[in-house]
Amino acid sequence: MDFRVVVIGAGLSGLACAQGLSRLGAEVVVYERDQAVDARPQGYRIQLDPPGLTGLRQCLPAELFELCLATAGGPLAPPRVVDEGLCPRAEQAYMPQAYTPWTQAYPFNRGTLREILLTGLNVCYGKEFTAFERIDGRVGVRFADGHWDSADLVVGADGVGSAVRRQLLPQAKVGDAGLRLIYGKIPLRQRESLPEWVFEHIFTVATGTNRAHVGLGPVVLRNRPSGRISPVDDYIACMVGAPADLLPPFEELRKYGRRDLRSLAGDLIGDGWHPDIHRLLDHWDTKSLFPLRISSASAVEPWSTPGVTLLGDAVHAMSPVLAMGVNTALRDSGELIRAITTGATLPDAVATYQERMLGYALPLVEASRRIGQHRVGQH
Ligand SMILES: Cc1cc2nc3c(=O)[nH]c(=O)nc-3n(C[C@H](O)[C@H](O)[C@H](O)COP(=O)(O)OP(=O)(O)OC[C@H]3O[C@@H](n4cnc5c(N)ncnc54)[C@H](O)[C@@H]3O)c2cc1C
Repeated sequence: MDFRVVVIGAGLSGLACAQGLSRLGAEVVVYERDQAVDARPQGYRIQLDPPGLTGLRQCLPAELFELCLATAGGPLAPPRVVDEGLCPRAEQAYMPQAYTPWTQAYPFNRGTLREILLTGLNVCYGKEFTAFERIDGRVGVRFADGHWDSADLVVGADGVGSAVRRQLLPQAKVGDAGLRLIYGKIPLRQRESLPEWVFEHIFTVATGTNRAHVGLGPVVLRNRPSGRISPVDDYIACMVGAPADLLPPFEELRKYGRRDLRSLAGDLIGDGWHPDIHRLLDHWDTKSLFPLRISSASAVEPWSTPGVTLLGDAVHAMSPVLAMGVNTALRDSGELIRAITTGATLPDAVATYQERMLGYALPLVEASRRIGQHRVGQH
């Protein structure tokens, strides 16, 4: 197809979208603010369900999609929620309609998925987007270092703090969800000393009477990545979370050393919790820990600025309680590609994508908020 696209952001949504557009024959360049692919910790495990997998399949060449599946784990049973004594918590009563738990879900290593999605793409690192402008039917884009580019379509895939969204939809709000996580990994070097139940479900959340919670997601890959993909050892993604009022302000938390993060988590998970939870936390790798602040978007109204669109967290950031963020972001990428392949003009295809995306994504933001409130004390 004879058009040029600038994608802002080399997260999973931007890369998947760039792959799909490249397959259609568009000229695509991705601009990323980070200086390099591994410039900062980006998390460990990602759970993909049918919406995300379908989006990924729509965007990727068959061999890359197969490589993604070959380097994933599972499939595993749906998530489960237990109390601090590991007794199941009933939740179905308030499960919103927008979300149907899938019968099977697949754990991926986020870094592996990103490496695969980068294959063959033109990604420029160290380029921070600052503004766009409409010029003679095209869109010009400016970067912090003075670089300038132009395209027929600009895709803002620049995540929760999106600068593209701030200019396109200045009225759109993204708020602090009032939830903090200390996130890390449990290596599986001594798997036999860990409880077997943790490997049965895609994710287990244990919630305490003090409103803290522990989340555990096993990443046991079917095939170890090899060749040009960096090797990864199996692990359990493990997070200790709590409402913000139980922890120091986030700006302080960011300055904590890893040992201090660990001891803070230990203070949240007291003696009343099941011995298995303590056993798991004993194996937490202190070097892997970092703090996270969770954000959630408010609903946005449809927009009609030609030549600029949004996908992923840039438009529908949601708390991770339903693990629907990347799933929805990849679905967006697939929906945009699908709309373009109908043969509609580029502006019409983008308008169709935007309408569909707001229709499925905004209810999921709301569903994540409601479940987050009930389950883990989100605002
Ligand atoms: C603990 C945790 C666990 C999660 N687990 C799951 C899960 O299991 N399943 C799931 O579906 N979702 C999950 N999510 C949600 C998921 O992480 C996000 O929805 C997802 O990363 C969004 O992808 P994205 O590409 O839209 O944004 P991002 O991954 O944030 O990527 C945006 C990119 O844009 C770049 N950028 C930002 N500003 C600029 C700029 N001005 N110029 C250029 N580049 C810029 C950033 O550096 C970044 O690389 C989880 C979230 C958390 C916090």
